[in-house]
Amino acid sequence: MAKSTRRPQKIFAIVMWVLSVIFAGFLMALGNLVLRDIPRADQSITLENYIDLDQLRDLRKQERDLKEQMTPLKRAAEDAVEAQLTAQANYRATKSRFDNWIATRTATQSNATNPEVLSRTRELEGLSEKVRAAERIVESAQANQRKQSRSSNDVRLGINKLRDMARPAYSRAVRAKELRIFGFRLMLTLPLLLLSAWMLLTKRRSAYWPLYRGFVLFSAYAFFFELAPYVPSYGGYVIVIVGIIAVLVAGYFLIKQMRKYLERKQEEEARSEDIRRKSIDYETALKKIAAKSCPGCDRDIVTRDGVHSDYCVHCGIHLQRECPSCETRNVTFHRFCLCCGTENDELAKPAELA
Ligand SMILES: [Zn+2]
Ligand SMILES: [Zn+2]
Repeated sequence: MAKSTRRPQKIFAIVMWVLSVIFAGFLMALGNLVLRDIPRADQSITLENYIDLDQLRDLRKQERDLKEQMTPLKRAAEDAVEAQLTAQANYRATKSRFDNWIATRTATQSNATNPEVLSRTRELEGLSEKVRAAERIVESAQANQRKQSRSSNDVRLGINKLRDMARPAYSRAVRAKELRIFGFRLMLTLPLLLLSAWMLLTKRRSAYWPLYRGFVLFSAYAFFFELAPYVPSYGGYVIVIVGIIAVLVAGYFLIKQMRKYLERKQEEEARSEDIRRKSIDYETALKKIAAKSCPGCDRDIVTRDGVHSDYCVHCGIHLQRECPSCETRNVTFHRFCLCCGTENDELAKPAELA
């Protein structure tokens, strides 16, 4: 079954959608320009703004100084270890020469008073002293390194403590700033939302609806992209609460609409078939019949093979009939016979008032 809209009307509807979208696009661009040109008074907040800066500077300087000491200390320790190894090697070499020398002469001579033995023993003792001294240097260099690394740690801990102390004030400031930004954006978008809610409620049937629709699209964009991302989270509370309120409001209005619709339909169905049929809008009726739903009660049209579905089984409205002139079957809402063009006298008659 054909729909009744005229072709230019169909094209008009598409063009008007395009127009709505373009209109919304220009409004969005305008909104972005407005937001861009608004001077931003508050600079971005950092944790540093809330730290005792003198203390921080002091600790940073200590940190730098300690870092500068690190390389010389490390090199000194390396050098000390190297000197220690050399002293140890010298001692070992001399000791093994001495041991061999003693071993070759023990059989023949007494060692106790021999001046050469004494001088060699003294030489060995001197070398052993050197090894001990080198070890002491290594120990002190390593102790210096340990001291430096402990001091560095302490300074780092001090800086972290300063940052931790600044954190609560910083979080408060960040939250306050978020709230300010959100409040400002709400101030800009709330009037748009209210205006478009009003348009949705009152202007749907206006001939200028495509333009209103452009505005509604724009305010939906403003809500989702310019307002919603700036809602302060407070740990998710705001979003969840807004969601609950939105569902409750939407549910309330949908239920109310459905009750109104059912009441209206019951009232309509109480009227006579003739009056009901004639009160249905031509294009609405043809659209519904094309979708196989009854134009009177909006229920499915019941069909059975071999039987004409002339009436709605739910509300009794007349759906099809034979043309009085040529007996072709026609939809009762068509103004003229499909076959012979005879005018539909049932529609031509004015409806009798109940
Ligand atoms: Zn029906
Ligand atoms: Zn006919």
